[in-house]
Amino acid sequence: MITQERADFINEQEIEGILTPRRRPASAMVHELLAKAREMRGLSMEEVACLSYVEQPELVAQILAAAKKIKEEIYGTRLVLFAPLYISNRCMNECTYCAFRATNTSLKRRTLDQEEIAEETRTLIRQGHKRVLMVSGEALPEEGFQYILDSIATIYKTKVGPGEIRRVNVNLAPQTTERFRQLKQAEIGTFQLFQETYHRPTYAAVHLKGSKRDYDWRTTAFDRAMEAGIDDVGIGVLFGLYDWRFELMAMMQHIRHLEEKFGVGPHTISFPRIEPAAGSDLASRPPHAVSDADFLKMIAIMRLAVPYTGMIMSTRETADVRRATLELGISQISAGSRTDPGGYKDAEADENGGQFQLGDHRTVEEVVNDVVKLGFLPSFCTACYRTGRTGHDFMDLAKPGEIKYHCHPNAIATFQEYLCDYAGPGTKSAGEDLISIELNNMDGKQTAIALPMLNQVRGGERDVFI
Ligand code: SAM
Ligand code: SF4
Repeated sequence: MITQERADFINEQEIEGILTPRRRPASAMVHELLAKAREMRGLSMEEVACLSYVEQPELVAQILAAAKKIKEEIYGTRLVLFAPLYISNRCMNECTYCAFRATNTSLKRRTLDQEEIAEETRTLIRQGHKRVLMVSGEALPEEGFQYILDSIATIYKTKVGPGEIRRVNVNLAPQTTERFRQLKQAEIGTFQLFQETYHRPTYAAVHLKGSKRDYDWRTTAFDRAMEAGIDDVGIGVLFGLYDWRFELMAMMQHIRHLEEKFGVGPHTISFPRIEPAAGSDLASRPPHAVSDADFLKMIAIMRLAVPYTGMIMSTRETADVRRATLELGISQISAGSRTDPGGYKDAEADENGGQFQLGDHRTVEEVVNDVVKLGFLPSFCTACYRTGRTGHDFMDLAKPGEIKYHCHPNAIATFQEYLCDYAGPGTKSAGEDLISIELNNMDGKQTAIALPMLNQVRGGERDVFI
């Protein structure tokens, strides 16, 4: 029996105590907060609460502008691309918003075997991907947890010419410390887990059956992951289940807890909004649906609150919403995604077996073209985790702004690799133009690092990084 720790670092009373008195923030106070935020020192829970209630259009515009400035300052034009790889849609839980839930009979169930996982991986490699997020429902096949470990190994060892997946992040059920150790040994990048909602009564109402009913086991999962040596963890809330302001406050409490206990906060924050899912009434009509305007404001506020934490946007959102969020602080996006196991190989098939409805159906190359047009630099970099720059080390590097001497050259080198090996002629020429602009905009130190790397890639070397 697993010893159960209560996640009392999520404190609803404290949240209500902070939110309630800040419902009508004075303009002067908002200006003061934004001035502080622009110094990139982050925001307190009280300050996040205050900004979350700002409604006047000109003040909201200022919040968005401040987030844009911070994004440009810390992340420059870089945008990391990845793809989810769904290995199984079988599940024993009963999450009322998810098509994979146990009682949903309208879905073709499928657990990929290792050869099928290798096949999916080959398709992703041929599209140019270097980083995948392995995702699974919560019903393991006969081999038990070994299936998960084998699947990670399969993805890493699958090659297509010079192409390979260099970082496997995972989105899986919460594990015991021992299993987290095994995941660490399997060399996962980030362990990602969404809390769905931090509000206990709502959590109980939407999780009807199975181990996922245990709020505390889920909320304390990152403690066990970090104890097992996994220091890159990714948090998230499924927006639409409960009041988004409450969820932002709770995320801040979770971040504070990890920082106090382990000296480092989450590596990434994801912002999934509920999408329609097969057989789910709740997913079609989320009880606390977040409007596009609030969604953008929320992302901007989190950019100000935790300037150095990566922020992820998936293909749940439409291309237009995704474009708008890039400016505001999103640093990673998925591209060309399928959420049905086997969906990449069988790209023409319908998405029966998918987890939810996708908002963005474009291919990787279409997304690359679009972000290049918007002036962003697509990055396929996976260097940090492979050079040990995770957890504290990553934050030490990120905070003084030094990251631009690592991430930016790495982004350029991996984008060049993509252009050489996978891009069509139009994308290649637009991409080369962008690289020239990027080189022109670099300071001397950056150019001295980036140019030799670029020449190595152009000369045929692969996996060049610093
Ligand atoms: N089974 C594991 C779990 O629940 O944590 C991991 C995989 S689950 C497929 C990944 C995430 O998908 C969930 O954490 C949830 O936030 C998200 N999800 C489920 N249903 C969704 C929906 N209708 N719209 C958007 N995201 C959804
Ligand atoms: Fe299963 Fe995860 Fe979907 Fe819940 S969200 S039904 S646990 S796959």
